[in-house]
Amino acid sequence: MFWADELVKNIIKNRKSDGYLVTDEKTPSGRVHVGALEGVIYHNIIAEILKKNKKNSTFQYGFDDYDPMDSLPIYIPKEYKKYMGVSLSEIPAPEGKGSFVGLFANEFISVFHSLGIKPKIVYTSSMYKSGEFNQAIKIALDNAEIVRKIYKKIANQDRPKDWLPIQMVCEKCHKIGTTRAYFWNGEKVFYECDKNWVKYTQGCGYKGEKSPLNGNAKLPWKVEWAAKWFIWKSDIEGAGKDHMTKNGSHDMASEIAQQIYRIKIPESFRYEFFLVGGKKMSSSKGLGNSAMEVSEVLPAELLKYLIVRSNPKIQLNFNLDGKTISQLYNDFDRAHSHFIQDPNSDEAKIYEYSKITQEIPEYLMRFSKVVSLVQIVHINIEKEVEKEKGSKLTEADKKDLTNRIKFARIYLEKFASEDEKFEIQQEMPRVKISSSQKKLLKKIAQFMVSESEPEKIHNFIYEAGRELGLKPKETFEAIYQIFLNKTSGPKAGWFLANLDKKFVFNRIEKVLK
Ligand SMILES: [Zn+2]
Repeated sequence: MFWADELVKNIIKNRKSDGYLVTDEKTPSGRVHVGALEGVIYHNIIAEILKKNKKNSTFQYGFDDYDPMDSLPIYIPKEYKKYMGVSLSEIPAPEGKGSFVGLFANEFISVFHSLGIKPKIVYTSSMYKSGEFNQAIKIALDNAEIVRKIYKKIANQDRPKDWLPIQMVCEKCHKIGTTRAYFWNGEKVFYECDKNWVKYTQGCGYKGEKSPLNGNAKLPWKVEWAAKWFIWKSDIEGAGKDHMTKNGSHDMASEIAQQIYRIKIPESFRYEFFLVGGKKMSSSKGLGNSAMEVSEVLPAELLKYLIVRSNPKIQLNFNLDGKTISQLYNDFDRAHSHFIQDPNSDEAKIYEYSKITQEIPEYLMRFSKVVSLVQIVHINIEKEVEKEKGSKLTEADKKDLTNRIKFARIYLEKFASEDEKFEIQQEMPRVKISSSQKKLLKKIAQFMVSESEPEKIHNFIYEAGRELGLKPKETFEAIYQIFLNKTSGPKAGWFLANLDKKFVFNRIEKVLK
């Protein structure tokens, strides 16, 4: 059974609802790592499958942008150190207009939009400022003692007797990460902007008293997590493995949700890490592996497919290299043909939830072929694909091909091995061709006068070489050398069949002279 079908089956069994709200969220403290797409894609599939099961569902994605900046990504100017401790939403963008957080949130949104995923987007900064959190804040403060006990019971963390589950915005230095709240009179919170409250930055020492409502404060994140479930009435929310450890943040939020907000906690599932090259990178450090950067070198459908096919219970390790990308294309194409043959198979479902457009292509040209074809100048690739397909290309076929051509060029520039790259030599290169190889080339030219089928040409080359006592390597080298000035290259019969015949004959004639 497709992992997501199984997950949704259990959710429906455990939780009856007229409409399911599926929630997920992220603190955009820097360029968002590609691994964060796991959460987006997994939650989105759940919402889609619920709809397929005739259940109303909404997928909502939240940005926790009222969190303080607590580390400085390496690509952010050093001057930004002064903002450490300030809410991300209140920090200006490094370049141009808007906020720091807007920059990275928007970048991430544009990536998942390109994957065809369009959740309802919410920002905690707006929720705090508009008063949506007010009730949850009051409940947390009125139940501070219970919250302290939960910290002790679940995480074995001692909180001072006067500790309150609230982070006030300092009225003097505007930092939110540095304030220690110690008294709540039901209306105002008394706090101090403590110089040594956190390790990553210093408070200004200001002492103040203010209402914690309407954006003047935020809840500590584990309390905030529970408060969000309470405010939104979330039905389903999974989380990455790091939050789901025993006595970890999810356990803590669940306990708070049940004890002080008195709600049934959302149905949950945990997902494993998405590693790139064996490493897990946080969004504040990840450079080169951001969702945006990966989406620039991998087509959207492939990126989506990579995650959809991975059961959340199994760690996903991806290498951004030529071999992995080619393999991913082949796997994707196989899923596509499963979808055409038997739409109910598991592989077909993986394709179904990976595809982005409604129209399904009938024919996908193998990526390695597209990579070779784009290197042959003066060739009509569309015609070549049509020949291979045996009928006219549909609009969806053409769209897919255009996309493959685009990404084949990127692939050649960034990932292709030397074996995959070639350039047709317009002038005869200076190469040494043995007399047996010359005989072979002559035979090939004669054969090609009346033959254009790649497979037949290929078999002929192989046989003719053997008859002349040439090793396969010597046989094919003769061709690669005179056309590419290389000792290796694409599949020879297919390569020759795709060249202009006149050009082929002229070149061979020159060798024979
Ligand atoms: Zn301060």
